[in-house]
Amino acid sequence: LVEIKNLHKSFGSNHVLRGIDFTVEQGEVVCVIGPSGSGKSTLLRCVNLLEKPQEGQVIVRGEDITDPDCHLDAARQQIGMVFQQFNLFPHLSVLANCTVAQRTVLKRGQQDADRIARANLERVGLSDKIDAYPAQLSGGQQQRVAIARALSMDPALMLFDEPTSALDPELVGDVLTVMRKLALDGMTMLVVTHEMAFAREVADRVVFMDGGVIVEQGPPADVIGSPKEERTRTFLRRVL
Ligand code: ATP
Ligand code: MG
Repeated sequence: LVEIKNLHKSFGSNHVLRGIDFTVEQGEVVCVIGPSGSGKSTLLRCVNLLEKPQEGQVIVRGEDITDPDCHLDAARQQIGMVFQQFNLFPHLSVLANCTVAQRTVLKRGQQDADRIARANLERVGLSDKIDAYPAQLSGGQQQRVAIARALSMDPALMLFDEPTSALDPELVGDVLTVMRKLALDGMTMLVVTHEMAFAREVADRVVFMDGGVIVEQGPPADVIGSPKEERTRTFLRRVL
């Protein structure tokens, strides 16, 4: 579904991504782990073209979205993103947060948009909060609205950048439960996370990044359970 080839990204003289190659298959859950500053967020932002890579390609469903001729908005529509900060519209209700992009970007009618938003809010367990405003919700509930909002755009791929790291510990579980359910439903997901237990249980593949390169990748039982590389072992000793 997604193919990343020789991706390089620099900010000035800071060479952050130094040749990243990997693929995400349809229905696969890939968790990206690695130390702070290793380029995990930059990688996700390049996949979504929030950042423009200097070199390399991101191919989504056979289309090179880094090609200057590619229709950026059409490419982005296929990719949902959930951030550490939820970025909800504070002045809109939960339901309206989940319908506004459907209306403006996908040109769906109000009834269709409402129906789809309600279905996705039910999926994340928030049917009873559709008329609430973001400020009336807990962080975990806000993050689940952000997930429902992204799902309402029918993305082919969902990107998550540390979706639980801004949450109080007791709220993390609800969000991970929703993500686990999405994975079981067959959603293709690329997840940057510090939640090793989640990665171990849910990921089909774990990618360990350090210094802008992929140091090792494979099934969680290998990469987290018995890592081959010393750098991976050092990282895991610190986080486990
Ligand atoms: P963390 O675990 O702390 O979120 P990360 O692996 O997500 O770290 P990135 O946020 O991708 O790391 O940052 C990698 C490097 O890129 C850092 O040195 C950071 O300072 C730099 N960087 C990221 N975004 C920008 C930007 N917009 N402008 C300049 N430098 C940036
Ligand atoms: Mg980051």
